[in-house]
Amino acid sequence: MAAGPNSLLLWEEAKKYIPGGVNSPVRAFRAVGQDPLFIARANGARVYDVDGREYLDYVCSWGPLILGHANPEVVKAIAAAAADGTSYGAPCEKEVKLAGMICQAFPSIDKVRMVNSGTEATMSAIRLARAYTGRSKIVKFEGCYHGHADSFLIKAGSGLLTAGIPISPGVPEDFAQNTLVAEYNHLDSVEELFDQNPFEIAAVIVEPVAGNMGLVLPQPQFLSGLREITQRFGALLIFDEVITGFRVAYGGFQDVIGVRPDLTCLGKIIGGGLPVGAYGGREDIMNLVAPEGPVYQAGTLSGNPLAMAAGIATLERLQDGSIYKKLDELGRVLEEGVRSILADKGAKVGLNRLGSMFSWFFTEEEVRDYPSALTSDTALYARFFASMLSQGITLPPSQFEVCFISAAHTRQDIAFTLDAFVRAIDEAGV
Ligand code: PMP
Repeated sequence: MAAGPNSLLLWEEAKKYIPGGVNSPVRAFRAVGQDPLFIARANGARVYDVDGREYLDYVCSWGPLILGHANPEVVKAIAAAAADGTSYGAPCEKEVKLAGMICQAFPSIDKVRMVNSGTEATMSAIRLARAYTGRSKIVKFEGCYHGHADSFLIKAGSGLLTAGIPISPGVPEDFAQNTLVAEYNHLDSVEELFDQNPFEIAAVIVEPVAGNMGLVLPQPQFLSGLREITQRFGALLIFDEVITGFRVAYGGFQDVIGVRPDLTCLGKIIGGGLPVGAYGGREDIMNLVAPEGPVYQAGTLSGNPLAMAAGIATLERLQDGSIYKKLDELGRVLEEGVRSILADKGAKVGLNRLGSMFSWFFTEEEVRDYPSALTSDTALYARFFASMLSQGITLPPSQFEVCFISAAHTRQDIAFTLDAFVRAIDEAGV
């Protein structure tokens, strides 16, 4: 069961007016060889397409919707804020409240600046790191994705990896030269870059848990090792917690492992499903941002009351930590179920999971870095995706993305998913 007739009609229209028919590439379903569903509405753990079909959703808008779709408290907060005006172009109380909540949740963040997307957050953090250190180069990791600013579209994960684009055309050579690429989970590759460029690297930016090559967990000493190397060479360490911030714990993955970066990028959950990003960190660095300092960064809609209201309502629900316990429990049930099915069948599928984030990999190798993620059979993933979709479950339409469980998912939903999984691995021919 692929896209229904109403989705197909909209798809033909969309392709006339929008490049590739979509406003973000992976949504086009190309990697899984299907036509995309057009979504009419969503509620809790479910989305409904324009043909009236219902799906159990593991995309969750790519991470922001940790409380599920159209959470009543979030919707109420947005509606109340909208009635008071959608944007003032002047400071408002809600942005102070959300900034305070973020600083309290992340001890490494003394001050934080709101922007409108994860891309803006990482782009601005890099500019700030370059200004602070007076250096030009940055180190990123192959397969990590930090949004679509020029400096990051080099050996990136997510949609670029899905589409096989190593460096996006349109990124000037001069930009590309300032982006050095290391191997995730391989500290020696980072050491090597610093040895070759000891006084030129402004910052290392990393997804502390890689979520854009599928889910790849950091090896035990990897992040503390990055902390040590950056300190030794006078470079900044930037954690891109756009996915993991408020997802794996209220204080992000840095709280879980106890490594303090100099700057942190956030997005997704802090906007409760509205367009938001943020970057923050040590006071002496953040004080360089205009108007306090000379590093320019601004935004017409930054800190707008709607997005702030959705973010505050979301964080208020997460604050006491109980939702993380529930999410981890659901994740654990899913993981154990998958493992026992695989043990019975002897099928060659791997599952990487952290709390409510997980990825299936269709490979015999344990996936612990970028090269092993690439061993996954993407054609098999496409067949698996198609079978799950036909059974009423939406997964990310690419191997190299992460599935998300929300607080609106239930034990019954997980049981339903496990039943579908059994059939999907048979149908896909795993
Ligand atoms: N960083 C990470 C780790 C991401 O996963 C993403 C997007 N998925 C971004 C940055 C960019 O965020 P946005 O799409 O909001 O620009």
